[in-house]
Amino acid sequence: MPPTVQARPRDPRGYPVPAITPWEGDEPQFALTDHGRSADCALKRLCSVCGGPMPRGPVWRVVGAAESAAIAQALAAGLPYRNLTPTLEGPGHRACMLYASMVCPYLARPNARRGSSAEQPDELTAHVQRGAVRGSSGAVVGFADYEYAVTPAQVLFRFLDVVEFLPHQESDAHIDELRAELEARTASGGGERDGRPGQAR
Ligand SMILES: [Zn+2]
Repeated sequence: MPPTVQARPRDPRGYPVPAITPWEGDEPQFALTDHGRSADCALKRLCSVCGGPMPRGPVWRVVGAAESAAIAQALAAGLPYRNLTPTLEGPGHRACMLYASMVCPYLARPNARRGSSAEQPDELTAHVQRGAVRGSSGAVVGFADYEYAVTPAQVLFRFLDVVEFLPHQESDAHIDELRAELEARTASGGGERDGRPGQAR
């Protein structure tokens, strides 16, 4: 677990609660995205997982099967990729997204997050069903930059220029990448790495 995630508040079972997750009393609402917290992440360039500042340079996110396939296709064709349909999923540190891709069942589920309002019961059931097929496909993706829009109802993100593409099939696919990332950061004196993957600073 990245140290910045370790410092997050925990739910009653001990799971770390992402920065953009709303709370209802003592219960984090993992399936939802809090508008205010998400807006803070966008406006202050904070990681949506740990809430810490992101250095200038690339940002990472976890994408689902459909977007992973679209990115793979664009890369294979040598074409630029960007998600024309904005997403509610904010960016984060590389280590945080590698970690989240392995432990967070709500990440990268299409329409899994719909703001802070209560969801319909059938949507909640759908989350569980999608959770059951988790691990089929997805990717941790680095982007050179992102743009955002904060509307009264939503915080929307769009990501530009793929700089790293790490597709996965199994939920523990990125454990070696994560270990290496955490070791690299420790070796460089802590803090989040700036710059492109593989470049020590
Ligand atoms: Zn982070």
